[in-house]
Amino acid sequence: MNLINLNNKEYDVIIVGAGFSGLYQLICLRDQLGMNCLVVETGDDVGGTWYWNRYPGARCDTESHAYSYYFSDELLKQWTWSERYPGHAEIRRYMNFVAEKFDLKKDILFNHKVTSAQYNEDKICWEITTNNKINFKSKFLITAVGCLSNANIPKIKGLENFEGKYYHTGNWPKNGVSFVGKKVGQIGTGSTGIQAVPVIAEEAKHLTVFQRTANYSVPARNKPLTENFKIHVKDKFKYYRELLKKTPNGHPFEISNRLVADVQEQEMQEIYEKAWEKGGLQFRGSFSDLVTNVEANKTASDFIKSKINETVLNKKFAAILSDIDHPYAGKRPPIDTNYFETYNRDNINLVDLRSNPITQIDEKGIQTEKEHFDLDIIVFATGYDAMTGPLLNMNIIGKNNLKLLEAWEEGPKTFLGLQVPGFPNMFTITGPGSPSVLTNMPIAIEQHVEWIRDCIDFMNKKEYSTIETDAKSAEEWGNEVNNVANKTLLPTVKHSWYLGANIPGKPQVFMPYAGGLPRYRDVCENIKNNNYKEFSLN
Ligand code: NAP
Repeated sequence: MNLINLNNKEYDVIIVGAGFSGLYQLICLRDQLGMNCLVVETGDDVGGTWYWNRYPGARCDTESHAYSYYFSDELLKQWTWSERYPGHAEIRRYMNFVAEKFDLKKDILFNHKVTSAQYNEDKICWEITTNNKINFKSKFLITAVGCLSNANIPKIKGLENFEGKYYHTGNWPKNGVSFVGKKVGQIGTGSTGIQAVPVIAEEAKHLTVFQRTANYSVPARNKPLTENFKIHVKDKFKYYRELLKKTPNGHPFEISNRLVADVQEQEMQEIYEKAWEKGGLQFRGSFSDLVTNVEANKTASDFIKSKINETVLNKKFAAILSDIDHPYAGKRPPIDTNYFETYNRDNINLVDLRSNPITQIDEKGIQTEKEHFDLDIIVFATGYDAMTGPLLNMNIIGKNNLKLLEAWEEGPKTFLGLQVPGFPNMFTITGPGSPSVLTNMPIAIEQHVEWIRDCIDFMNKKEYSTIETDAKSAEEWGNEVNNVANKTLLPTVKHSWYLGANIPGKPQVFMPYAGGLPRYRDVCENIKNNNYKEFSLN
């Protein structure tokens, strides 16, 4: 792209981010509505989350045939995944395949980070600036920045003095990191840390895992796909498309209707055993009340704890790993490949930070209250300033000079996770208040992207210039988000990133919509069918 010609250029739409959301939004608005669009992307290639997440073991935990765009029959027939769960490199190949097939890269400005976006009320446009001081104007601003893209390295005293190297998993070097012969320390045992531990331990001289909160994990049982299954998926894509729309989380499996109380102890154990052998996220679909009923949940939690104790031979490690303080699936449930088994290696150590917290990092490694750990590399698998972080980072300023940071001082306020009061013509794909992170993301993304497309199409046809939500709608939707969340065990986990509790000082508000994709889709469809009367259109 010729940057000289780009500066001060006006577009119909600026889309921020070239991941799953940004690419499909470009296809919808450029190719289907004929609008003049530009995608601005910080990285030097497409991929979004998967551009940055190249850490050892990085793999999606949605099954590959579901972790796909479903909008194009042709694409579904042309692309073939190789494994049950797609690895990060294969996902980037897929996204590049999509970008080439639909000729998307010519409208993506890579290596540019949006550093501010201000709404100009007089000119009815967004004025957008990048870190390279390129300015754009656009009628619509669409954020496609992902929910988990703002890496969080905790502020631990002395990190700047560390003489080795340190990395955050969500910002992994493109050329990888060699652990050969190295003493490695990893902080964090969420979905990411649980994937990274076995792979790092295989390569490193020694790995010390620093665990603050013990976590559940179920085996992923990843495997190469058989030729039969590859054919089956292509033959049955229409069936899967409907299934993914129907299931509450957009996954290719149904949640069982039975309650834990419906079955006897032995049958329950057999059901869990079968689900454990099958592996994957569907373990939580074994019963309908696992995420709503504490007693029911306890049976699944106890089952997994017993598996940890069976698997991990070092009794001290087993006790630390199985001392889990929250209900199963109350936090995002990880799935793994040989996570607990890895603690049986002789080059691994596990530190329980609750009884032995980190006091500082020094030149040589990590100091805890009781011990010093000499390290060459520290891996931070410490998660993200989720959902709101990527949006707040962009310095978005709406009407009357209202900063998004101020508007969200007490937590995000959105209508449907799609629009923010005071920020006209701005749409937030998978924004806070939408099902997003509680679902299989590409399915939630397609629903949002198509809704935004239809809304803009409606505005174009009716010659409306602006669309805006108001504080009352955002408040009512916020209440709905809380009400549905409070019917589950999710908000009871006080240190969860769903609540923003992992970031010191972040307002604690339950952010994703837990009412399920079908119900959410219905709400959005009704609004569309009602000509967007819930919004102000001018
Ligand atoms: P996460 O779930 O937030 O886990 C972060 C880990 O770091 C937790 O164990 C946390 O402990 C620990 N931690 C944070 N700050 C710390 C500190 N100051 N000292 C010690 N420990 C600290 O982050 P994540 O594992 O990156 O996962 C985030 C989300 O990304 C997942 O929930 C999932 O939605 C997504 N993800 C998906 C996949 C996939 O599809 N395969 C893979 C990876 C991630 P506490 O629990 O005590 O806070």
